[in-house]
Amino acid sequence: MLSKYKSTIGIFLLAGLSTAVFAQSDPGMSSAVTIGTGGVTGVYYPAGGAVCRLVNRTRSEHGVRCAVRATGGTVINLKALQTGDLELGLAQSDWQHHAYMGTSDTFASDGPDSELRSVFSLHSESFTVLARADSGITSLDDLKGKRVNIGNPGSGQFATMQVLMEAKGWELDDFLEARTFGPVEQASALCDNRIDATVYTVGHPSGVVQEATTTCDVHIIGAYDEQVRSLVEEHSYYRISSIPAGIYKGNAGEIYSFGVVATLVTHSRVPDDVIYALVKAVFDDFDTFKGLHPAFAELVPEAMVREALTAPLHPGARRFYEEKGLILPEDR
Ligand code: GLU
Repeated sequence: MLSKYKSTIGIFLLAGLSTAVFAQSDPGMSSAVTIGTGGVTGVYYPAGGAVCRLVNRTRSEHGVRCAVRATGGTVINLKALQTGDLELGLAQSDWQHHAYMGTSDTFASDGPDSELRSVFSLHSESFTVLARADSGITSLDDLKGKRVNIGNPGSGQFATMQVLMEAKGWELDDFLEARTFGPVEQASALCDNRIDATVYTVGHPSGVVQEATTTCDVHIIGAYDEQVRSLVEEHSYYRISSIPAGIYKGNAGEIYSFGVVATLVTHSRVPDDVIYALVKAVFDDFDTFKGLHPAFAELVPEAMVREALTAPLHPGARRFYEEKGLILPEDR
């Protein structure tokens, strides 16, 4: 599975470089959309690449050009949708919820983003703690007093870590050092011994964890304890998650954590026909789509159009889902 994954990443790196130059949509003629993703070694970037690959492959039928952009992650994508810098973005379901509702420290000052629209949900993401074997870290509480990467501001990992820290009653000073490396730098920072641990909310397998586990001696640490259990009980957008055994070197047992769902979101200003064409390209060739990333293995269309989506479905997506019987008109 991992060798297939490596070649998939390679394809998407190329796809991203060759398509990232397209401009804003041009209604009436052909349209261009850009999907904001995350760091290139995460899952969002290849996930956006998978969507664009199917859209671009069927371009003669609909005229939509699709490009992916590597970004700092969820919060940056949600804010860029509001300002019109992106037409689509990938976002964690917890922060999709907060952006639409205008809640949390991250989104309260913006107010509710009532124009945010859901397209579909994707793979599950686990709050993943990766620690150097020589750090002595074996539990979440062991992060105190250590050099910890809490992620780049603007990422979902940074925002979700703030929530966890609040639940734990931790301040930044509780760490020996709190670093804000972006997703791509995490693995080298760990393996160069610049940090003891990093946290990342990500699907599996992901390039970052694969890179770190094959380069140096690091372990994934379980992140399911009393405070995490309370978070899952109190907030519907969190769920218990597990990282299956055997997908990374040295990861012999299943690891429990909490998690969210990756979602594809857009804005009400993006034309219905464009979103219709995008979801049609994905769901009409769903077996190909599922095969484009191993984190997609468990995806089921009926769940993707219903679950983990706080913002209303974009009308273009809804039209296609109703035509296909994936949702009923009365499901509004
Ligand atoms: N969930 C991460 C974030 O929103 C990104 C994970 C990925 O790139 O796959 O920042």
